[in-house]
Amino acid sequence: MNTNQPYDVLIVGGGPCGLAAGIEASKSGLSHIILEKGSITESIRRYPKLMRFFSTAENIEIGGIPFPVSSVKANRNEALQYYRKVAAYYKLNTRVFTEVQRVQKQGDVFVVTTTKNEIFRAYKVILATGYFDKPRWLGIPGEDGPQVSHYYDEPFKYSFTKVVIIGASNSAVEAALELYRHDVDVTVVHRGPDFRSTVKYWLIPDVKNRVKEGKIKTVFDSCATRIGPDFVRVHNQLTGEISNIPADFVLVLTGYTPDAELLQRCGVELNPDTQVPVYDRETFETNVSGLYVCGTVLAGIYTEKVFIENGREHAQAIIDHIVGREVHKVNELVQRI
Ligand SMILES: Cc1cc2nc3c(=O)[nH]c(=O)nc-3n(C[C@H](O)[C@H](O)[C@H](O)COP(=O)(O)OP(=O)(O)OC[C@H]3O[C@@H](n4cnc5c(N)ncnc54)[C@H](O)[C@@H]3O)c2cc1C
Repeated sequence: MNTNQPYDVLIVGGGPCGLAAGIEASKSGLSHIILEKGSITESIRRYPKLMRFFSTAENIEIGGIPFPVSSVKANRNEALQYYRKVAAYYKLNTRVFTEVQRVQKQGDVFVVTTTKNEIFRAYKVILATGYFDKPRWLGIPGEDGPQVSHYYDEPFKYSFTKVVIIGASNSAVEAALELYRHDVDVTVVHRGPDFRSTVKYWLIPDVKNRVKEGKIKTVFDSCATRIGPDFVRVHNQLTGEISNIPADFVLVLTGYTPDAELLQRCGVELNPDTQVPVYDRETFETNVSGLYVCGTVLAGIYTEKVFIENGREHAQAIIDHIVGREVHKVNELVQRI
């Protein structure tokens, strides 16, 4: 299609929810394009290499295509294979390595500009950009050091080193367990008194027993205040004590947030406290008529409440609204935000 001719629907983001939107558009006979800044399902590609999804495979299927896996739950490689095959099966019109910079409405048409100044035009735009590109920074000195990362990739790099993990959520606990099992000296630092209550229930006995045995160290009620070349400085909130924990590597696993600036550049208003965009709870249309949010991008600070399982359903509601059908009702979990 000539890029000067508007698409019916342009989707920003080629994650599971963006692909689901492309499938629904295609099923409804709408011309579409998906612009993805990285590879197809880029976020999942960057997930820990040995990760396994907590959802059962059928709960993260899209487009009605069955997801056969060797176990009940898919691992990262199986998910990458699956979503790629589904995109190919539906012949989704996908442009990878194309990052959207802004979306502007001009009359009835949206003008979508990429970071390479390419222009795409569409009658409707769906933002499905997820949250994985924006880690929550602690804002402490040394956080940008070469031994510090906000992403955990794989354990072998860290074997026989000392790693300090800052954070106590799922990602932090999973990384701590995996690293400990690959001969890493792990210390978990967290400002609260314990692991977060949102940690998957089946991980809790494992991690707590390892802590009891002294195989994973914890420094709770303590804030990291500085990261040096070979240490993390912590301030105990209860005693006031300041100490340095030796660290060859530091993993700051304190979560991620949707790109608020991108949403604002597209004209979407955000709740100043929660960063949740202004959108219709049934149709997912934002305050900009014809501009929709789909998937985790709409979660604001509540990223644990929107995931593939419920986010994939947004696609059908959005396309129903675009074509003027009765709108598919989405899982009520999403309505709680
Ligand atoms: C370790 C881990 C395990 C998880 N396990 C599960 C699970 O078991 N079950 C479950 O349901 N959920 C799980 N989740 C959450 C789930 O992966 C996300 O909620 C899901 O990826 C959301 O899909 P999405 O399409 O909204 O966003 P994403 O998958 O993040 O896709 C967004 C896409 O948009 C692209 N993008 C961003 N900005 C731009 C831009 N400006 N221009 C173009 N493209 C852009 C990104 O590169 C990305 O590919 C897990 C998350 C993590 C981190």
